[in-house]
Amino acid sequence: PIYFDYASTTPVHPDVLKAMLPYFTEEFGNAGSSQHYYGWAADEAVESARKKISSYFGVPARQLVFTSGATESNNLAIQGYLKDKHPGHLITSYIEHKAVLQIFQTLEAQGWAVTYLQPNDSGCIEVSSVQQAIRSDTVLISLMMVNNETGNLTDFQAITKICREAAICFHADATQALGKLDLAHNPFLPDMISFSGHKIYGPKGIGGLVFNSPSLICPFMYGGGQERGLRPGTVPVQQVVALSACFDLFPALIESMPVIQNYKDKILQKLLTNHIVNSADNQSVAHILSLSFPNLDWEELYRKIPMIAVSNGSACNAKSQLPSHVMKAHGHADSLALATIRISLSYLTKESDIDFLIDYLNSQLPHR
Ligand code: PMP
Repeated sequence: PIYFDYASTTPVHPDVLKAMLPYFTEEFGNAGSSQHYYGWAADEAVESARKKISSYFGVPARQLVFTSGATESNNLAIQGYLKDKHPGHLITSYIEHKAVLQIFQTLEAQGWAVTYLQPNDSGCIEVSSVQQAIRSDTVLISLMMVNNETGNLTDFQAITKICREAAICFHADATQALGKLDLAHNPFLPDMISFSGHKIYGPKGIGGLVFNSPSLICPFMYGGGQERGLRPGTVPVQQVVALSACFDLFPALIESMPVIQNYKDKILQKLLTNHIVNSADNQSVAHILSLSFPNLDWEELYRKIPMIAVSNGSACNAKSQLPSHVMKAHGHADSLALATIRISLSYLTKESDIDFLIDYLNSQLPHR
């Protein structure tokens, strides 16, 4: 099948692989904890990666922690910020990734009050709904920049401004935004930002968390004191080097977005099938397109399209065969939520792939 699931994961870019390979073999030292050349060389590689990535986000190097991925970054950000604080009020949304939602569900059980924002009719979180939800005891707001199932955008800059005025900490999951939106030199970035390597042509098992003040978070794991104690454990040097190499790809990745937008527009123009578009018009990223098919059983839907690798909403829901909570938040019944495909594109997608996709869906699925 042709791969249309780049929002789920991406192949490692050749330049990224090339950068990381020496750190498996000749440069195998333990970063930060050795008294000899091998350790120092590894340490230098990690710190130079930290410098490059943190400067992209405009924070000092010590305000970046390497993690295993966005799930861990979200946990460290939210739990690390709230640790030892007296339970107050928190804001998130019904369309967050499970790696955020489940944290808030746990926090509710610990006595925190949580407001879950509903998306509007286009499936976007409105800035006004954030503003309205703020209470005098609101401590933290967590909202994703780009939704992983629909590609819908949240105006994180406006929310950053609101949070700064109200002295509320703002965390954003930028997993689907990084490498698609240009976040460099942006004066209105959230206080904490989570991201993952495997969505930006890096390997699985590496991610990061940046934060705008050195003492913003507390660790929730204890050990050898690596990453200034915030994320103890031997640093995966080759993964860190790879993550840093991903950031060199961004100019080319961002440059490819208009082409990808044209592909998305072409699909929407030429598709004759009976479908509902879940990705907001003009308010979603180019590389994600979510479609739901009324009157089609999801098993039948997936049986009809074996030649394309797409996902049912998010990859994380695909195996559980539960209707996606994001599609449910869009107001879809369980059956429609299940009969949904997420097409996600990349600079690796060719126009001929798009033409095949359009013809294939038109030939396999019922028309309007
Ligand atoms: N947040 C979002 C928005 C995601 O799309 C994903 C990956 N599906 C994650 C978090 C989890 O990322 P990771 O696999 O790096 O833990």
